[in-house]
Amino acid sequence: MRAILSRAPVGIAVIDHGGHYISVNPTYAEIYGYAADDMLGQSFLMVFPEDARDAVLARHQDFLDNGGHLGGEWAVVRRDGARLTVWSSSVSFPSGRGKPDRLVYVLDITEHKKAQEQERIAATVYQTTSEAILVVDAESRVISVNPAFTRLTGWSQAEVEGRDPDMFRSDRHDQAFYDEISLTVESEGFWAGELWDQRKSGEYYLRETTITVVKDAFGKIKNYVIVFSDITARKSAEDIIRWQANYDSVTGLPNRHLFTDRLAEGARQANETGRTMALLMIDLDRFKEINDTLGHSVGDRLLAKVSARLQECERPGDTIARVGGDEFALILNGVSDIAEIEAAARDVLKRFEAPVTIDYEQMFVTASIGISLYPGDTQSLEELFRNADQALYAAKAFGRNCLHFFTPALQRAANVRMRLANDLRQAITERQFVVHYQPVVDLKTGRIAKAEALVRWQHPTRGLVSPGTFIPLAEETGLIVPLGDWVARQAIAQVARCRAVYAADFQMAINQSPTQFRNSAFSGLGWVGELARHGLTGSAICLEITEGLLLNAEPQIMSNLIAFRDAGIEIAIDDFGTGYSSLAYLRRFDIDTLKVDRSFVAELDGAGLDICEAIIVMAHRLGLQVVAEGVETAQQRDILKSIGCDYAQGYLFAPALPPAAFEAMLAKQDKAPESETETGADHRAASAE
Ligand code: C2E
Ligand code: MG
Ligand code: MG
Repeated sequence: MRAILSRAPVGIAVIDHGGHYISVNPTYAEIYGYAADDMLGQSFLMVFPEDARDAVLARHQDFLDNGGHLGGEWAVVRRDGARLTVWSSSVSFPSGRGKPDRLVYVLDITEHKKAQEQERIAATVYQTTSEAILVVDAESRVISVNPAFTRLTGWSQAEVEGRDPDMFRSDRHDQAFYDEISLTVESEGFWAGELWDQRKSGEYYLRETTITVVKDAFGKIKNYVIVFSDITARKSAEDIIRWQANYDSVTGLPNRHLFTDRLAEGARQANETGRTMALLMIDLDRFKEINDTLGHSVGDRLLAKVSARLQECERPGDTIARVGGDEFALILNGVSDIAEIEAAARDVLKRFEAPVTIDYEQMFVTASIGISLYPGDTQSLEELFRNADQALYAAKAFGRNCLHFFTPALQRAANVRMRLANDLRQAITERQFVVHYQPVVDLKTGRIAKAEALVRWQHPTRGLVSPGTFIPLAEETGLIVPLGDWVARQAIAQVARCRAVYAADFQMAINQSPTQFRNSAFSGLGWVGELARHGLTGSAICLEITEGLLLNAEPQIMSNLIAFRDAGIEIAIDDFGTGYSSLAYLRRFDIDTLKVDRSFVAELDGAGLDICEAIIVMAHRLGLQVVAEGVETAQQRDILKSIGCDYAQGYLFAPALPPAAFEAMLAKQDKAPESETETGADHRAASAE
């Protein structure tokens, strides 16, 4: 019995009626931190906290006197003062001394109690936390969800238990996204991140999620614990805050803050690529008046409408921002020349031409633009801003609704162009243009067989402006399209008269600018109808284009060329030999005529001869006719004739003549004997040039 007692894993003690230990086993003493001998004869109250002792002794004696139950959990104190929880069970035991003793079994359940408490806390947290918790087993089946999960997703424990958490997935992520998560969880035992799921109602929500792997004692995966919260609202609040920090609420455009970032980015790009960044400060003229008279709400709506128009000017990579009350800024990146900037600025001004309608009321607003270039004007962004502002001020002073460059030289050039461009616009409506005709002579017969229509500008104050000056300007401003159309219609009417009174196969050459061909507003096909109206076929006219046009033939150009071809209209290459030419192009585009540039004709007594001869031979092989330009002497004419050139054009025969003088020349030729075409000298005097 003694051996059993001494080895029992339970504390066992015998206590007499008075509460003294009669006997304790080693486990009992050990629980309380004493040696067994130190306990014998002592009161068992030694293991109880002082304030509990009287009550405990009374219960002990009551149990021994009257029976009943004495056991359960007790809070006791170990020798070193540590608090323990023990569980005990007592029986009474005849002692042979009259009153019975008590035999007590004791177990130290302190650790167990602590763990229990932890579990209780954990359970409370699980039940009450606002974070949704989902516990999944190793086979990916839902074991348990907490109330927050149900609140957040709409799914109850019963509905999801045993199912795969895949069921919550939304279509906002692809399989690869989920595979990536699984991989991380497997390899690292943990994943944290944001993902979109769907609630039971189908509503999408963004959750911030952690997934933790729980393993058993053998390292085998037992559970996945998924904890998450709904951050949809927080996210959208963050988005709003970010938006407000960078964008203007009235117009939706980038604000000054974002604009400054973009400007710095643009400067970085300019440094890297070596190209120019242009800063255009755009200020609405007299906006304050509108604001003051019609109120701020109308002012705001006007700004919003204006911004929408400005945004139409934005090319990819550009930034249009609102940098002040009625001040906008446009950053143009990767600019290659001034004309490009001017065109962009004019495009902006043009957006203001149409009135803005607010509450059925039409308002006309104009803008002024100040322009400064990086790094051309300055290397400092602050200075760039100041420059543009200064230029803007100059534009305002200049009379508003215009643009102004910061650099004086650029500005002067812009002024001249601007004035001419303005005049050009008027010139079309006021019919200041005239078309002159330069005869083209058939070298075999010596007769005038064709003519070239050359436009002239009779400027009211500047006199005759050369096409070399205003054609490029008309190209830049897009006015080339209406101008070219007008010239063509004049030329068609003229060739109709020539065919009627002079020669039935007379042909008129009409110059075409490449930009005209590229312009989407180009409607050269209207000329086919115009020809028909005059009872003419396509071959009555020949369009002169340049080599460069074929070199960069975009679909638009190709389709125009093909359409002209189908209408029987001929095509000539003007100034042949001065640009990049390719024989392949001549074939592919089915060209009819080459016009040898006058620089070769001028050198016919030298290097020009071989070149002219080569061009003629080649052209004839390809079935093309050749016109020599700028023939000024009889000698040049004779050489050209001897090397097989088909036609010649130049001051030797006549300069471009006003219609009346041109018709008179044709009439005179009809009467004159053939080969008498050297009448240029007379006509040069008669011509308006
Ligand atoms: P182009 O088509 O090469 O026209 C020939 C130019 O040479 C004309 O100059 C003509 O007056 C000039 N010329 C004629 N014979 C002689 C000569 O013997 N010696 C010299 N030195 N020059 C001669 P213009 O009229 O000043 O025209 C210049 C250019 O302007 C034209 O070159 C053409 O490219 C363009 N152009 C003229 N009219 C129009 C038009 O209606 N539309 C378009 N797009 N361009 C036009
Ligand atoms: Mg020409
Ligand atoms: Mg030419």
